[in-house]
Amino acid sequence: MENLRIPGPTPCPPEVLQAMTKQMINHRGAEFSAMLNSVTAELKTFFQTKNDVLCLTGSGTGGMEAAIVNMLSPGDKVLSVSCGVFGDRFADIARMFGADVTSVKFDQGIVCDPAAVKQALQKDAKIKAVLLTHNETSTGVTNDLGTLAKIVKDAGKLLIVDCVSSLGSIDCPVDKWGLDVAITGSQKGWMAPPGLAMVSVSEAAWKAHAAAKMPKIYWDFTRAKKNLEKGQTPWTPAIPVAYALNVSLKMMQKEGMQNIFARHARLADMTRKGVKTMGLKLVVHDEKYASNTVTAVWPPEGVNPDNLRKTMRDKYQVVLTGGQGVLEGKIFRFGHLGMCDEHDIQGALDALRKSLPEHGYNPK
Ligand code: PLP
Repeated sequence: MENLRIPGPTPCPPEVLQAMTKQMINHRGAEFSAMLNSVTAELKTFFQTKNDVLCLTGSGTGGMEAAIVNMLSPGDKVLSVSCGVFGDRFADIARMFGADVTSVKFDQGIVCDPAAVKQALQKDAKIKAVLLTHNETSTGVTNDLGTLAKIVKDAGKLLIVDCVSSLGSIDCPVDKWGLDVAITGSQKGWMAPPGLAMVSVSEAAWKAHAAAKMPKIYWDFTRAKKNLEKGQTPWTPAIPVAYALNVSLKMMQKEGMQNIFARHARLADMTRKGVKTMGLKLVVHDEKYASNTVTAVWPPEGVNPDNLRKTMRDKYQVVLTGGQGVLEGKIFRFGHLGMCDEHDIQGALDALRKSLPEHGYNPK
């Protein structure tokens, strides 16, 4: 069997796959309603929030677009804080819908600097909202969201956070940190297939939503909330993904949130130690900010990371992913989130160790 070690979609447990073989049901009926209510309640525990949590049919990017169009009006000043492809994507979406975006950018592998964010907010009092990425999947960097969020909230701004590859895997207490909108996707740490974006909306976010004028129908949070009150979604939902998430969330509850965070920390540490032992370098500059869900690695000099990945896949059935944006063709990345254990990581590291010599590098 393939060892799918990419940062989403992640492999699904057999029970979760089995759940998806169930016949379709009426999405306006009692059975769906009970399931949606249960999924929503369980999501709230993992988001560590009392805020509303909406399940939208779409991928994580859909959730990001939903956050933008529901919070902002054309011309609104927005501060984008980015250290990679996903931070840049958030800014692009806001720009596309007419927001006036100022960007604070950090180089690949470097964490977003809270002092720079503070300075940018002090420089322009008209900024209404701040866009942050908790875990930058393209570089394997986890931002210090607690510190960043405090700066943004102390400045009285709306805080919209891409938590797509962190929520459910890395501690992200939405209420404690004051995240107004937090977004994640079913195919990441949630051990379910792609198809649902889950978004929390704070009271302040609802206020902003009431005044927001960007165009929306499909993503309209008011429609989502009104329907949720009846245990429904405004549009036909991805029912099989809801079946899957309903089961995976129960498995996650059983494992326990703190145990899940600890397992991700352990597997990330094992991955980093494994690649460093082979003499390879991590993309993240300061390991204190290394992600617990994805590890980005520089290949040895002269080794093409995409060819290396091909060998790992063809010979050892281990699937890693490549670089994105400016890092395309330059790095490779391990996913270690969702259903993943030491055996999976060891298998991937062994495949890497065996594949490297074929590309002219003998690991230490
Ligand atoms: N944001 C982050 C941090 C991600 O890792 C991803 C997906 O990899 C996305 C956004 C986009 O999610 P999707 O591919 O589900 O649209």
